[in-house]
Amino acid sequence: MTEFKLVGHQNTYQIENIIRLYDKYLKDVYIISILKDNTCRAEIYDNNNLIVYKEEKSPKDPKLQKQKLASVLYKALVEVTKKEMPWGFLTGIRPTKIVHELMEEKLNEEEIKKQLINFYYIREDKANLMIEVAKKEKEILDKNKDNEISLYIGIPFCPSKCLYCSFTSYAIDNRQNLVEDYLDALEKEILFSKEYLKDKYIRSLYIGGGTPTSLNLNQLERLLIQINKSFFIEELDEFTVEAGRPDTITREKLNLLKQYNVDRISINPQTMDNDTLVRIGRKHSKEEIIEAFYMAREAGFDNINMDIILGLPGEDTKNVSYSMSEIKKLSPDSLTVHTMAIKRASRLSESLEEYSLIDEDKVEKMLDITYQAAISMGMKPYYLYRQKNMLGNFENVGYSKVGKESIYNIQIMEEKESIIALGAGAITKLVYKDTNRIERIPNVKNVYEYIKRIDEMILRKESLLQYE
Ligand code: SF4
Repeated sequence: MTEFKLVGHQNTYQIENIIRLYDKYLKDVYIISILKDNTCRAEIYDNNNLIVYKEEKSPKDPKLQKQKLASVLYKALVEVTKKEMPWGFLTGIRPTKIVHELMEEKLNEEEIKKQLINFYYIREDKANLMIEVAKKEKEILDKNKDNEISLYIGIPFCPSKCLYCSFTSYAIDNRQNLVEDYLDALEKEILFSKEYLKDKYIRSLYIGGGTPTSLNLNQLERLLIQINKSFFIEELDEFTVEAGRPDTITREKLNLLKQYNVDRISINPQTMDNDTLVRIGRKHSKEEIIEAFYMAREAGFDNINMDIILGLPGEDTKNVSYSMSEIKKLSPDSLTVHTMAIKRASRLSESLEEYSLIDEDKVEKMLDITYQAAISMGMKPYYLYRQKNMLGNFENVGYSKVGKESIYNIQIMEEKESIIALGAGAITKLVYKDTNRIERIPNVKNVYEYIKRIDEMILRKESLLQYE
C-alpha cells in the first residue's frame, strides 16, 4: 500500500481507508496528512517532490475535524489521479446513517442532497439512492417501540463452503455429532436469553448462518420447538430463516418452518449460471433453485428473498443479465444484490491469481442491470450497506416489493435498537439510545470452542446485559 504519515493527529483508520480506495491508481507517491495551526492539510510527494497539496481551515469539533482531514486528502487524490469515487471519501459501511442524522437535524431532502454532494463528494445518483433508502428505513424505524429488540440465531453449517465465503460455516457432511453438540450449547444460550427477554418485545427474529436448513428434519424441529417455547413468536412482526442453498430445501422442511411460524425465507442463488455455480463451489444447479422456489411458494411462503452476487469469478454482464431474467420469471418478493468483496478469510482470497476479476466499469453496468430488473419486478431499494474490499468500491442494495422489506435487515444496518445474537460467531449489539453508544458482545467463532465455552459465553452476556 502507498506509504503515508500523519502529523498532529491520529486518524489512521480513515486516512488509510481513503488511500486504499486509490491504491491501484497511485505509483511511488508518499502522502502526509497534517493537522496544524487550525489547518487541515494533505500533501502528496513524488520522489520527494511535493506535487499536490490541499488545505482548509480546521473546524473545532473533533468529528468535523476528522471529516475535513478526509476531505482535503480526497481532493488531493482526485487531483493527482483525475479519478472521482462514486461514494466520494465515504468509507463507512452504513452510509444511510448520515442521512438519518441530517434528517434528525431537520434538513429537507434538497439540503441533505446538497450536503452529500458538496461535502462528502458523493455522486448524485448515489446521493439519491441514499435518500430513497433512508426514507423507506425511517417508515420502519419510526415504529420501533421502547422495549423492543431483535434476535439473531446462527447455525454455522452448510452443505459445502463457497469460494468467496468468510462466514463461520462448516461443511455439515460427517459432522452430525458436532451438530447435536452445537444444538445442545445453543439451547443453553436460548434458555438464558428467554429469561432476559421475558419483558422485552421481539419485533424480528432471524435465523442465519451458515445455512440453517442444512440441519436435518429432526434437528430443525428441535431448534424450532425450543424457539417457539422460549419466545413470544406469535407477537413477532417478522421471522426469517435463511434457506440459502436449494440443496438443503425439502417439502418437509418448508412445511415445518411454516408450522413453527416462520414467515420469511431467503433462497440465495448468487447466480443462475450453472458453470459459475460449479466454479464457486456450490453443489446444486439452477434447476434446483427454481424447483426449491416453487416448492416454497406451494408451502405458502409469500415473502421470499433471493440474493445474488455481482463480479463472481468468470462472470460478465451477460451472465448477470441472464441471472436476472431467470429470477424475474420467479418474481421473488425481495432481492439483495451484493457486489463481491474479497474477504481475507475466504478461499478466493488465497487463490486470487487463479481468477480474473472484472473492472469497476463492468461492476457498475452489472449494478445497473440489477437495478433495472428490480424496478421491473415492482421493487424499490430499502436497505444499503458497503463493505471493505468490494470490487469497484460500490455498494450492496436490498430491493423489495411494498410491504416485504426485511425489518431485521434495516435494524442491523441502522443500529437503532439492540440485537441479541446467539450461536458461534454471533455478535450481540447493545444500543444505548440516551448516550448514543453501542456495545458489542461477540461469541467465539470456532464451533468447537463455542461448545466447550458455552457457560463462559453466557456469563459474559449476563454480566453485560444486567447494565442494559
Ligand atoms: S452458503 Fe453462505 S454461509 Fe454457506 S458457505 Fe456459502 S457463503 Fe458461506
